[in-house]
Amino acid sequence: MKKGILIDSEEFQNYDFGPQHPLTPKRLQLARKLIEDFNLLDNDNGSLEEARYATDDEVGLIHGDRYIKVLKEVSDPNYRGGPVWEYGLGPGDNPIFPNMYESSCLYVGGSLIAADLVMKGETDHAFNISGGLHHAMGSKALNADGQTVSTGRGDSASGFCILNDCAITAAYIIKNYGAKKIAYLDVDAHAGDGMSYIYYKLPNVLTISIHQHPRTLFPGTCYLEEVGEGEGEGYCVFIPVTPYTFDEPYLKILNETVGPIIKSYKPDVLITQLGVDTHYSDQLTMMALSISAYQKMSKFMHKLVHKACNGKWVALGGGGYSPDVVGKAWTLYFSEMCEKQEELPDEVPQSWIDYCRTLTGRTPDKKIVDDFDPIKRLGKENYEKIIQVNDELIDSIKEKIFPYFKL
Ligand SMILES: [Zn+2]
Ligand SMILES: [Zn+2]
Repeated sequence: MKKGILIDSEEFQNYDFGPQHPLTPKRLQLARKLIEDFNLLDNDNGSLEEARYATDDEVGLIHGDRYIKVLKEVSDPNYRGGPVWEYGLGPGDNPIFPNMYESSCLYVGGSLIAADLVMKGETDHAFNISGGLHHAMGSKALNADGQTVSTGRGDSASGFCILNDCAITAAYIIKNYGAKKIAYLDVDAHAGDGMSYIYYKLPNVLTISIHQHPRTLFPGTCYLEEVGEGEGEGYCVFIPVTPYTFDEPYLKILNETVGPIIKSYKPDVLITQLGVDTHYSDQLTMMALSISAYQKMSKFMHKLVHKACNGKWVALGGGGYSPDVVGKAWTLYFSEMCEKQEELPDEVPQSWIDYCRTLTGRTPDKKIVDDFDPIKRLGKENYEKIIQVNDELIDSIKEKIFPYFKL
């Protein structure tokens, strides 16, 4: 049995909002290439699987018929209509492009393949780097009995996300594998609002999102006080961290709050959204993690899944707008899934540096793990303040959230 399987497809490149848009599909190529260069796809532990297109019925587990119909209309290469603001489609974050629906379906299908591989026991961990489109809003969700319930919200594209593959994947696992409890952990710098609000009223999908404080970043929602509703109360955990949070306090939050909550919930499977726009170099956010943090986060999640849910780990991609960071960080995550992280060299191969330069015009650092000295970069006063604010946040989580999990 393989320990980790990567999902990829050349056609992932078709999900393209245009040359000026930050979510360039080149990010995926860079990750795939580095993973390949390190020989992680063709050995006893790791391999590659081709993505497939999700069907309308699969997309329809979360999104309504009307939304799907509109997406198909605007996806027609001959479409000459304008934006469809009602559904969040138009210039800005989610510009309409030809075959938009089909390309989105491939991203979703990649996540569903990952779910199949893990749930059928063909591998413990599968990683769809194109997935993690956590902002798209859905009108439907599935409860533990596999019944469709209304989320009370309208379908919509949002924040570069057309279809919410995270939410569809959870519903797909409930429907096809009878999972009673699914945990979702989202470490993107932006809150996983779509995913969390879709399952907001349900206890069978525990959502945890740790993100830069919404007062300072899109989507501007997802505060600690929002803990779910009705039966779902307690099963939505929002952890808003202060801007410029760096490795040490971030990892402390994972260890002291996220770990115990997920272990206590005892899910059948863990879905993670592995956005890496928390990196200090990211142009879209104000976080201060280094690549070394991703190394530690990958180990944290890996240990957690083997303790909490028999190793079942469906990993999805997410944000990350420094393409070389995306390449390095996701390679670290995947190498950890394959138990090959210790064998990686400290530096990326020259072939990858050249590839990166050709693709992005930027020359990445040779070293994989970068140095970020928070005291030097942020100043001692800020450094201490950030630790203090995050310690208070940990106390608040323990006070407000822990009782739901008998902790
Ligand atoms: Zn993001
Ligand atoms: Zn493992």
